[in-house]
Amino acid sequence: MFIGHFAVGLAAKKAAPKLNLALLFISCQLLDLIWPVLVLMGIESVSVDHSATVVTPFNFSHYPYSHSLLMTLLYALIFGVIVFKVFKSKTAAITSGVVVASHWGLDFLTHRPDLPLLLSGQKVGLGMWNSLTATVVVELGIFAIGVFLYLKASPLMTRKRKQIFWSMISFLLVAYIGNIWGPKAPIDTPPQAIAGPALSMWLIVLWAYFSDKRVK
Ligand SMILES: [Zn+2]
Repeated sequence: MFIGHFAVGLAAKKAAPKLNLALLFISCQLLDLIWPVLVLMGIESVSVDHSATVVTPFNFSHYPYSHSLLMTLLYALIFGVIVFKVFKSKTAAITSGVVVASHWGLDFLTHRPDLPLLLSGQKVGLGMWNSLTATVVVELGIFAIGVFLYLKASPLMTRKRKQIFWSMISFLLVAYIGNIWGPKAPIDTPPQAIAGPALSMWLIVLWAYFSDKRVK
């Protein structure tokens, strides 16, 4: 899943208003923020396989450290503890932990059975990416709900916040459309060329920070 993850981060603002949207975006995308780093380091692997699924041409052949259920639960726990230490809020800690774990849940829905449960062994996935219609309807649907819930929890009072927020949402939508309907990566694309651009997700975190920043 792609923008569906951001929907969870946006929706979580209501449960944890203390947390800047940047932190909620780090939570919902933590696995995909770690993944390109591990691929660039040669620890995890990815390749292009046009028969992988209808939606994505990527074969996530080995990514147990960023995407196994075991590691996800560990990241959720660590992240929750850090948030608790910094913000002294149990609700914020639990919310961010659940948001971290939600990434695996949504990936489980969309990926073919390539998500490891542990560091090796059985892999799972319900394969919604095999249906373009289901993917687009579900993902855009939850994204719209996420945006709606965020705006209810954190109304955009200033013109500046409106501009930053809506430009970020538009960017995510354009990137999503490009991902789904744009040209697919050539078969011989090296893993670094797949993981490198994925690092740009950190930019969205920065964008979110400014879109959620209140003028005191
Ligand atoms: Zn992922």
